[in-house]
Amino acid sequence: RHRSVVIVGAGPAGLTVGNILRAAGVDCLVLETETRGFIERRPRAGVIEEWAVRGLERRGLARDLLERAEPHTACEFRFDGERHRFSYGELTGGHHWVYPQPLLVTDLVREYVDVRGGTARFGVRGVRLYGLDGDRPSVSYVCPDTGQREVVTCDYVAGCDGARGVTRACVTPGRVRVARHDYGIGWLALLAEAPPSADCVLFGCHPDGFAGQMPRSPEVTRYYLQCPPGDDPANWPHERVWAELRRRLEVAGAAPLTEGPLIEKRVLDMHDYVTEPMVSGRLFLAGDAAHLVAPIAAKGLNLALHDAFLLGDALVARLTGGDGGGLAGYSAACLRRVWDYQEFSQWLSELYHGTAAGDPFRAGTTLARLRRLFTSPTAAAAFAEQYLGTAARY
Ligand code: FAD
Repeated sequence: RHRSVVIVGAGPAGLTVGNILRAAGVDCLVLETETRGFIERRPRAGVIEEWAVRGLERRGLARDLLERAEPHTACEFRFDGERHRFSYGELTGGHHWVYPQPLLVTDLVREYVDVRGGTARFGVRGVRLYGLDGDRPSVSYVCPDTGQREVVTCDYVAGCDGARGVTRACVTPGRVRVARHDYGIGWLALLAEAPPSADCVLFGCHPDGFAGQMPRSPEVTRYYLQCPPGDDPANWPHERVWAELRRRLEVAGAAPLTEGPLIEKRVLDMHDYVTEPMVSGRLFLAGDAAHLVAPIAAKGLNLALHDAFLLGDALVARLTGGDGGGLAGYSAACLRRVWDYQEFSQWLSELYHGTAAGDPFRAGTTLARLRRLFTSPTAAAAFAEQYLGTAARY
């Protein structure tokens, strides 16, 4: 059978595109390898920028988020044994929203399937794409119920299947460049069943390595610990994790950390990539399928939403009004924000990790960079804009 758009992947990017298409009456199919229950519980991001929330709201996708999310207006750097609160809300009037990604995905999938009547197939296997350079591509997949391979023809394919998906590999060879950056650093990503230890995001820039705290909900808190890339989470038993978090995060005058059982523990090898352009024939990549930004600045989910807004709107314009301008400019419009966020993440990475690089010169320049945020209003304003994602007009 035929669909106007096949969307591969039911993450924030794919579900947002699907919702935009359904709101305009465009028929589409979402294909997802995991079950609906699994994607509604998969913990990941939690910090959403204000412009992204307004983008969701404009598309009728932020009702629950606006009722339940927490606005955040400050973060705290801890270095040289002291705490330094950075109130970007006071400086700019702006804020972030803290809303765990599984809640956002739950909202988006409910709206897409149950409210807007969108079709989704969960638990599919072996997604393959064909004929992307022609005007009638097709997508095939193995249906979990029958074990049969189904084929769907379509006008466009939205590749929203994240960093480990298949669509990125389907671009026509030689037409797309992938730029990569490897930080040579690992982060042990932890979820603790415990209330946050502070009311805001904490960045511990310590000679033994970076440590971070990101509040998620009153019951669950995310922590990060810098570790060697490729380290085994089994090397990090409960006692070692909390001892290291205390060493790197506790400073004079701060409340002790609130400990709790660790319900997620995995090592992320910090790297970035950008696929340029994000289009190959009738395949349009969005979100982590097109670009990965290490979770240093909490930007990945925001970029995925930015792409999805542009792609959803551009597909609607093309399929309902014959206007192909949005699709033609899609990749360039996304990449301006992508590269801006990549640059900020790289800059911030030095702030987090420079003091632990084992190089006294880098430690000195990193401390100077940190202190400048608290002594120069111009440096503080620039940081706040980039941290909030409001630095530039894209
Ligand atoms: P995904 O969310 O990865 O969705 C892709 C979907 O495609 C998945 O459901 C997957 O199961 C499915 N899929 C994969 N392969 C196939 C296939 N072959 N066929 C069909 N379906 C397939 N970002 C932030 O902005 N702020 C943060 O605080 C933050 N913290 C993070 C913490 C961690 C530990 C991690 C890992 C990431 C974090 N991120 C953060 C990044 C953020 O989670 C991602 O950028 C975001 O999920 C990207 O959304 P997406 O829709 O592009 O991809």
